Amino acid sequence: AQTPVKVTVTGAAGQIGYALLFRIASGQLLGADVPVKLSLLEIPQAVKAAEGTAMELDDCAFPLLSGIEITDDANKAFDGANVALLVGARPRTAGMERGDLLQANGGIFGPQGKAINDHAADDIRVLVVGNPANTNALIAQQSAPDVPAERFTAMTRLDHNRALSQLAAKLQVPVTEIKKMTIWGNHSATQYPDLFHTEVGGKIAAELVDEAWLRDTFIPTVAKRGAAIIEARGASSAASAANAAIDHVFDWVNGTEWTSAAIPSDGSYGVPEGLISSFPVASRDGKWEIIQGLEIDAFSRERIDASVRELEEERTAVRELGLI
Ligand code: NDP
Repeated sequence: AQTPVKVTVTGAAGQIGYALLFRIASGQLLGADVPVKLSLLEIPQAVKAAEGTAMELDDCAFPLLSGIEITDDANKAFDGANVALLVGARPRTAGMERGDLLQANGGIFGPQGKAINDHAADDIRVLVVGNPANTNALIAQQSAPDVPAERFTAMTRLDHNRALSQLAAKLQVPVTEIKKMTIWGNHSATQYPDLFHTEVGGKIAAELVDEAWLRDTFIPTVAKRGAAIIEARGASSAASAANAAIDHVFDWVNGTEWTSAAIPSDGSYGVPEGLISSFPVASRDGKWEIIQGLEIDAFSRERIDASVRELEEERTAVRELGLI
């Protein structure tokens, strides 16, 4: 029988964790023929809740789930891990300054990066979901000098999927007819969903909608969708975030021609090297590649630059705090 793939999930007792674990265990993360072993990392006061979720996972009798371990020790949680989904993070609370937020998350993602460095399997792949995701991924990466830098990624797939859904509704087409959607930059309000390369039935999406809709409705709706869901649901988006994490890892491992993911920049499209920024990407042989050769017009350039500037400011701030 195939050796199970070890998948470590942090913040496993949180609401995204609850939406994520059952889908991983059912085979949706890696493929319907890949056995998995789950490792749940939580803070001490949430370990009991994680144990409750593990009881429910047991009760599903998933054929592909070969074991579950639960711990508050990152060194154990990442020991031999092949995939790490870093979901647990310190949320911004009212009145919290950016420096405090970054500092608190540095205290989580620095030690986790080190634990990954020292204990994870050689093929470790890391997806950071916990916000500020891009910069948390950078902190973890910089704490893991022995792991190839490109194994640290952050999630913009939810933004990508939201953009697909908004455009499909506007044009009254199935999402499957939309190709080459791209999210650029930071997973934040400055992100830029780009319709100038997106194709719908062979036509460029930006030419099928009017500019005012693109600028004043589409871009802000995608960027502010999280807040709209909190407003409607009374809780933040969890199932759709978990779904996007599944999509990201599945495509990374199994390949795709085009999607969006935040990966370390190689300097492409003027994004300073090393920043973990969202790009149009393909995945081949288990590696992300930035799709090259796209023409960037002035409208897009301005928005990509603004989001990248924010990433640079976050990088400067974590440097000044000594977190990287
Ligand atoms: P959620 O499971 O709802 O969210 C977890 C993280 O994902 C947050 O940082 C959140 O950011 C982020 N996120 C990214 N995209 C989205 C999205 N589209 N919608 C919602 N969230 C998104 O948080 P809970 O509070 O329910 O659970 C967090 C768990 O993490 C707790 O059980 C806590 O104990 C645990 N934790 C574990 C740590 C560890 O393992 N060492 C460290 C810290 C916490 P945002 O806040 O911006 O919404």
